[in-house]
Amino acid sequence: MTTITWIGLGHMGNPMSANLAKAGYDVRGHDVSAEAMAAARDRGVQTFDTLEEALQGADVVFTMLPKGEHARAVYLGDTGVIALAPKDALLIDSSTIDVETAEHLHRAAEEAGFRFVDAPVSGGISGAAAATLTFMVGGKPDVVEQARTFIEPMARKIVATGHAGTGQAAKIVNNMMLFICLEACAEGSVLADRLGLDPQVFWDIASVSSGNSWALQTWYPVPGIVDSAAANKNFEATFSAVLAAKDAGLALMAGEQTGVQLPAARLVAEKLQQLIDEGLGDKDCSLITKYAAPDGKI
Ligand code: NAD
Repeated sequence: MTTITWIGLGHMGNPMSANLAKAGYDVRGHDVSAEAMAAARDRGVQTFDTLEEALQGADVVFTMLPKGEHARAVYLGDTGVIALAPKDALLIDSSTIDVETAEHLHRAAEEAGFRFVDAPVSGGISGAAAATLTFMVGGKPDVVEQARTFIEPMARKIVATGHAGTGQAAKIVNNMMLFICLEACAEGSVLADRLGLDPQVFWDIASVSSGNSWALQTWYPVPGIVDSAAANKNFEATFSAVLAAKDAGLALMAGEQTGVQLPAARLVAEKLQQLIDEGLGDKDCSLITKYAAPDGKI
């Protein structure tokens, strides 16, 4: 039986690893959070307290970690995946991280004799649970093809993006567009309300009109309209403001490096940072809606 090690069992890693277990793989999970490991056990994933134990017998290693610094810590150094995993293991990083770190991990893995792809995802926790994620996979074409088999139980779409780091490049641009669409939903939902529109009536119109977007369909920031929206659960995170600010920051950094002007992305990044500054970084990113409604009524 193929053994898959899964590192990072959070909002996304939990349902994604559970789908691999459901597909019949032997899944060995590890997370620094005991709570995340307990939740993974409930869904058919064996868990291990140390990375070293989790990596035993791994044919494939997936990582789903918050930021580039976490990915570097997990892959590099004497106690990292590259030092400890079986040398023939295929390494797949699905975290959203900066292109430079992704390229660095590619080089470090290849120098140590590993196959590695950067394979970030889009689709949110609802897509992770429903196994309908889009994977953007960067790396050598033959390695991307090998990764496809193990990604399939979690995906609706798997796209080969090109050379090392291009999966992350695609993901950073995609998420920048998502957050700009979220800001449009935030402003639109409050304005529609203040103009006296029933929220359901307005959503029904926008969802089949030119105002439609993935953000509108999945994260619409008004309670009682879209099942998957954090607005239904007091903005408990499905995608935290901290992670969203990280992604918006990656886009702004890429804009600076390439000389591209990104005023809309900058505006959303500032609002996400405002949530963090108010101590609301663990809340859902769609809570930026409150800045469109200074009277507090979302
Ligand atoms: P999360 O914070 O819920 O999960 C990350 C997990 O990694 C946590 O459980 C944390 O304890 C664990 N972790 C951190 N350092 C570790 C280490 N050294 N060893 C083992 N485990 C460690 O985040 P998430 O929402 O699951 O997102 C994960 C990644 O996927 C991020 O890069 C995010 O940007 C991206 N992403 C998130 C969504 C979403 O909707 N939440 C959608 C697409 C992509």
